[in-house]
Amino acid sequence: RVLVGTKVDETHANWVTAYNMLTGIRVSVSRTNAKLDRELTSADFEAKQKSTFDIAGNELVPSAKYDFKFKDYAPWVFRHLRMLFRLDPADYLMSLTGKYILSELGSPGKSGSFFYFSRDYKYIIKTIHHAEHKFLRKILKDYYQHVIDNPNTLLSQFYGLHRVKMPYGKKIHFVVMNNLFPPHRDIHQTFDLKGSTIGRDYKEEDLEKNPRATLKDLNWLRRKRHLELGLQKKQLFLAQLQKDVKLLQRLQIMDYSLLIGIHDLSRGNEENLRDKTLRVFNPGGSIPEEADPHSVLMRTPSKLESQRKARELRQMIQAERPVPMGETSSRMPNELGEGQSRLGFVFNQDDGGLRATHEDNTPGDEIYYLGVIDCLTHYGVIKKLEHFWKGLSSDRTKISALPPQEYGERFLNFISGVTMSAEEAMREAQEKDAA
Ligand code: ATP
Ligand code: CA
Ligand code: CA
Repeated sequence: RVLVGTKVDETHANWVTAYNMLTGIRVSVSRTNAKLDRELTSADFEAKQKSTFDIAGNELVPSAKYDFKFKDYAPWVFRHLRMLFRLDPADYLMSLTGKYILSELGSPGKSGSFFYFSRDYKYIIKTIHHAEHKFLRKILKDYYQHVIDNPNTLLSQFYGLHRVKMPYGKKIHFVVMNNLFPPHRDIHQTFDLKGSTIGRDYKEEDLEKNPRATLKDLNWLRRKRHLELGLQKKQLFLAQLQKDVKLLQRLQIMDYSLLIGIHDLSRGNEENLRDKTLRVFNPGGSIPEEADPHSVLMRTPSKLESQRKARELRQMIQAERPVPMGETSSRMPNELGEGQSRLGFVFNQDDGGLRATHEDNTPGDEIYYLGVIDCLTHYGVIKKLEHFWKGLSSDRTKISALPPQEYGERFLNFISGVTMSAEEAMREAQEKDAA
């Protein structure tokens, strides 16, 4: 059985929320992008822009299908971040436009966050807690500076921070970020690694039901897996990871993980069209109730068609006209099947990821997609408490709620083991035996 996010359409419980999220993004992003670019000021990092959408519309905000309020945080900073990450503005809007726009992943983690894919699977919307939201705003300057200094950062790429509120509803905060996994490749295996062993096990017997579940540290160790990056890429990777972790330590962040997606070239996208189109990505391991594979099958328009659409969108953005919802409804840009490698980024150089390389520099059979995710957990009071309670009962270094400094060290330590080639691991074992 193929696992897939649930399509969000009019019948979906979260349709209105999702629809409003996208409408808000579209209007606010095109509003900012329509202006002449300028340098950032420190006020930009604190800025927020509120819009009220209603069915009637007004001179500032076009009429919408539903009444809701929308807040756009630090719009200029995110505009610049999108530029630094080399997103095409029209492309970004187009991905987040459409009628059956999103598929929902439900709530894969323990945190209660919801995940939505843009319909071309390039972007992920993640709802976040108020604390995470406040924290991102607080560290935005450091994050921004880090991205400037580290164009190849492995940290989640944040493209927008917003809030939506429906009448009588709760305030929902969310970020838009990169989907680490490419739209055009099957991911055959996924690991979420923290460097902790406690509770970091996906039940192997459940794999049968759910062959593409996200596996964890103990599953990795059990498989005696290695990321074969070859010497050069391995050095680049670990050097970048060190810099990224240093930032996370300085900002007192913990609980993040390295997400690894593995595409097996020998299997390719063999699992028929269905599988190809459905970005299998079901981290929590549960099969969504109403999963209907056909609903996400999308007709891919011709290149010309999508070029025309892109041109129209660009013109609309330039004219500062809101993009009508459903305009590109049942269409999507012709991106499936095209490499999404954004040129110039070290860790996306091979088809959006990193091709496995053996020690002797011959290419391997896998492509790895790598990134550090879930990096908005501040080591605050709650974590300190958790640390205290858990610390009473088990080995301090194995629990996952360590203070940021130790968390980072343990993480780096584990990941450098992960990138040890099979040969290295063997040599190391022999040396140990000899000693
Ligand atoms: P928890 O705090 O319980 O770990 P969470 O709700 O904060 O959960 P994340 O850890 O951010 O969730 O993500 C959960 C899963 O969703 C990951 O293990 C991964 O499979 C998937 N995921 C998250 N972010 C991305 C991303 N940028 N690209 C691809 N997959 C992602
Ligand atoms: Ca997590
Ligand atoms: Ca989390």
